[in-house]
Amino acid sequence: MSTLFLRTLRDDPADAEVPSHKLLVRAGYVRRVAPGIYSWLPLGLKVLAKVEAIVREEMDAMGAQEVRFPALLPREPYEASGRWTDYGPNVFRLKDRRDNDMMLGPTHEEFFTLLVKDLYSSYKDLPVSLYQVQTKYRDEARPRAGILRGREFIMKDAYSFDIDDAGLSASYQRFREAYVRIFDRLGFEYVVVHAQSGAMGGSASEEFLAVSDTGEDTFVRSPGGYAANVEAVTTVVPDPLPYDDVPAAHAEQTPDTPTIDTLVAHLNEAFPRDDRPWQASDTLKNVLVVLRHPDGTREPLAIGVPGDREVDPKRLEAVVAPAEIEPFEEKDFAAHPALVKGYIGPGVLGVESVSGIRYLTDPRVVEGTRWVTGANVLGSHVIDLVAGRDFTSDGTIEAAEVRPGDPAPDGSGPLELARGIEMGHIFQLGRLYAEALGLQVLDENGKLVTVTMGSYGVGISRAVAAVAEYAHDDLGLCWPAELAPYDVHLVVAGKDETLVAAGDGLYDDLRAAGLDVLYDDRVGKVSPGVKFKDAELIGVPRIVVVGKGFADGVVELKDRATGERVDVPVGEIVARLTS
Ligand code: ATP
Ligand code: MG
Repeated sequence: MSTLFLRTLRDDPADAEVPSHKLLVRAGYVRRVAPGIYSWLPLGLKVLAKVEAIVREEMDAMGAQEVRFPALLPREPYEASGRWTDYGPNVFRLKDRRDNDMMLGPTHEEFFTLLVKDLYSSYKDLPVSLYQVQTKYRDEARPRAGILRGREFIMKDAYSFDIDDAGLSASYQRFREAYVRIFDRLGFEYVVVHAQSGAMGGSASEEFLAVSDTGEDTFVRSPGGYAANVEAVTTVVPDPLPYDDVPAAHAEQTPDTPTIDTLVAHLNEAFPRDDRPWQASDTLKNVLVVLRHPDGTREPLAIGVPGDREVDPKRLEAVVAPAEIEPFEEKDFAAHPALVKGYIGPGVLGVESVSGIRYLTDPRVVEGTRWVTGANVLGSHVIDLVAGRDFTSDGTIEAAEVRPGDPAPDGSGPLELARGIEMGHIFQLGRLYAEALGLQVLDENGKLVTVTMGSYGVGISRAVAAVAEYAHDDLGLCWPAELAPYDVHLVVAGKDETLVAAGDGLYDDLRAAGLDVLYDDRVGKVSPGVKFKDAELIGVPRIVVVGKGFADGVVELKDRATGERVDVPVGEIVARLTS
C-alpha cells in the first residue's frame, strides 16, 4: 500500500448515482476520463482480468477459439450488411488521411463472417466457433452508471458458424450452457430471459440479466416459468367480438377533456353507462411520436393504445429500431392541421387518411372492440367507435406498457415485473450476415450453401460493475473471492517496530503460500483507523490485522462480507487462509 498507485476518496463522485459507480471510483478501481469513458487503475484491472479469465476458461472449455480483431475498422463490410447506415449516431465514425471512412467497432459480426469466408470453403471445416475479448465503442445516447454503460467498454463476443439449422441449434445450446457456467461463477443472481430479436432478424434470442433494482432493463416472470425482457413480451390477443348490436358511432360534446382522466370523469357524469362506470380502458388513446430513421429522415407515427396504458418508450424503441424516437413537436402539429391536440382520433390517422400519418394500434384493439376516442374536433369525442367497422389501422404494434398481472403469452400465469442489468446476450442470427457478405461453403453434394451463424456477447467491463452492485455494504465493496483483486488484505495496526517486522514476515509467508496479498505497510503517516476504513472500502474478502493481540501471539482475521472477527494464533494464520 505504501507504493501502490491508489488514492481512496472520502466522497462520492458528483455524477454517480448507482453504488457500483460511487464505490469503484472511491475505492480507486477506475477513473473517469470523459462521459462513459474510464481508465482502469491497478485494483480495477486485477478484477477485470479475473472476469476475463473466467470467460476465457469457459469459452475455451466449450471449444471456441480466441482471436482478436482491431477496433479500428473500414466502412465497406458494414456497408454491405446495411449497418453503416443503421447505426446512425450510435457509432464513432472517422476518416483516415486518405479520406476513407472508418468506424470504431461496436460489435464484429461482419468481420468474423469475412474471416471465415476468407479461410474456409467446405462443410468439412464446420462447425467452428470463434471469440474475442476486445474493446468496443458505441456512442451511447445515455452513458450512465459509470462502467455499467460505457461508450468504450470491453466485451467478449463470440460467433458460431454451422452448415444447417440443426447445427446452429446445437452450437447455440453449447454457448448457452457455457454462459450458465460463466454467470454461476460470477456470483450474482441472474435470470435467463427471452429477448427481442429486433432488426437483426434471427429466431432464438436470450439475455442473461443480473437481477438488480438499478438495472435499465425490465423483465417479466410468470409462476409457470415464462421469463422475458419486457421488450420481447407479446400481448395476449383477445378474440374478435360480435358488434351487430352496437349502436352507430356518435360524436358527443366533451369540453375540457384533453386527458384520459378528465374524459372518463366527464363520460360518467354526462353519458353514464347502465352496466358499469366508464373506465380508462374503454378509451383509445392516440399517441404521436416521430421516428428518426438512420438516414436522418423523420417520420411521424401514431400509436393507438387503450387509455389505461402508457406507451412504453423502451418497448417502442425496440420495435422501431434502428429508427430512434423523437417527440412530436409543435412544428409537427403545425404541419398536420387535421390533428386537434387532445382530441385526436382514428378518423385522421393512417397512411390513407388526410394526415397520411402511419397509424399502428395495440394488439388488444381487435375487430369488434368498442372505443371512446377523439373526434378530431376540439372538445369532442366519439363514443361506440368499433374497430373493424368504423376504423382500421395500418397494423399492430407491441408498444403498450406491460403491467404486473398481465397474462404470460404462453398461458403460464400472471406476470410479475423486476429489473435487471443485461450481462449477456445469445442470439441465433441465422443467415443474415452470411448472405449479406457471401459466406458460402460447399456441402456434401458439392453445392454452395449459405452458412448459418449465432452471436454471443458478454459485457466484461459491465460485469465488474454488476458484481459491485451486489457485493457492497455501507462501508464499501465486498468482493467474492473469485473476483477480488487480492486474496488477503494485511494490515499492520501500529508503528511499533515488532509489529512492522511481524507484518513484513507474515506478508512473505502468505505470499510464499501462494496467496496474493495487499499489504498495508504504511507506517507513521496513516492511522490504524484510516487503514481499516480503506480495507473496508477496497473490499478484499479477508482482512488480517497485526495489532494489539500480537503481544499475546494472535492476529485478527476478519471476514469483510460478514464482519465476523476471530483471533488466530500467528503460527496458524497461513494454514487458516490457505485451507
Ligand atoms: P444494452 O441493451 O444494455 O445497450 P445491447 O443489447 O446493446 O445492451 P449487445 O449488443 O447484445 O448489448 O452487447 C452484448 C453485451 O455487451 C451486453 O449484454 C452487455 O453486457 C454489454 N454491453 C453492451 N453495451 C454496453 C455498454 N455501453 N457498456 C458496457 N457494456 C455493454
Ligand atoms: Mg445497447
